Amino acid sequence: MKGKLVILTGAGISAESGLGTFRDPGGIWTRYPLEDVATPEGFARNPALVHGFYNARRAQAATAEPNAAHDALARLQRLWRDPVIIVTQNVDGLHEKAGAEVIHMHGTLAGALCAACGARWPAPMEMAPEDTCPYCGLAATRPDVVWFGEMPYAMDEILGHLEECTLFAAIGTSGQVYPAAGFVQEALRNGAETTEINLAQTDTSGAFEHHMTGPASTVVPRWVAALVG
Ligand code: NAD
Ligand code: ZN
Repeated sequence: MKGKLVILTGAGISAESGLGTFRDPGGIWTRYPLEDVATPEGFARNPALVHGFYNARRAQAATAEPNAAHDALARLQRLWRDPVIIVTQNVDGLHEKAGAEVIHMHGTLAGALCAACGARWPAPMEMAPEDTCPYCGLAATRPDVVWFGEMPYAMDEILGHLEECTLFAAIGTSGQVYPAAGFVQEALRNGAETTEINLAQTDTSGAFEHHMTGPASTVVPRWVAALVG
């Protein structure tokens, strides 16, 4: 097999690095209502709460290590002859720590964004509502993450890759959040092979031709070995 690969990852790939997933029992959203911490309205109501939530996640991500699944994808990206496009919904930075290049469609905890002028800069470990933007000076800084109701980043670029790929794989994502959940349909429309890797069935399992079931840290290295030896 050859050609461009597009790999979508979700919270499940980082679960074994000790970072909680969103919709699993005990997941992040069962402890923090997402309307409060992951919407522009929630941020407008209580920016201190939202910064506190992302500061905690930033601190947790800073001490987390990539697991064998992140390592295997970085290896695949190095060894595959054609482009391997990794699109992640995760904001944790573990793909980069493993040495991979990724598209952060939901932004990153490592970034700060000015809601007033659109400037971006590296986030400090702790952000607060009174922080001012280094470019325009307004106290309108926010984490550079995409909230519910906002447009994910790099959509044109991602859709272009999906049009060209020969294989699309989704790893550790529940298929509940659009537009990412629709990528498999895009890939199928363009004749790509499709593989889902997850611990369990998801809302979009039916759309995939191939399924590999089990923890990402064991299944992804096996899948990568089958592709590149
Ligand atoms: P999710 O929690 O909805 O799903 C996780 C999936 O991973 C599940 O299907 C589960 O079966 C699977 N899984 C769990 N452990 C696994 C393991 N060890 N190996 C393999 N699979 C495993 O997470 P999601 O699909 O990434 O959620 C969609 C996205 O919604 C999130 O990534 C997040 O970016 C986004 N979101 C973002 C915000 C924000 O902070 N801006 C808020 C809410 C949701
Ligand atoms: Zn600004």
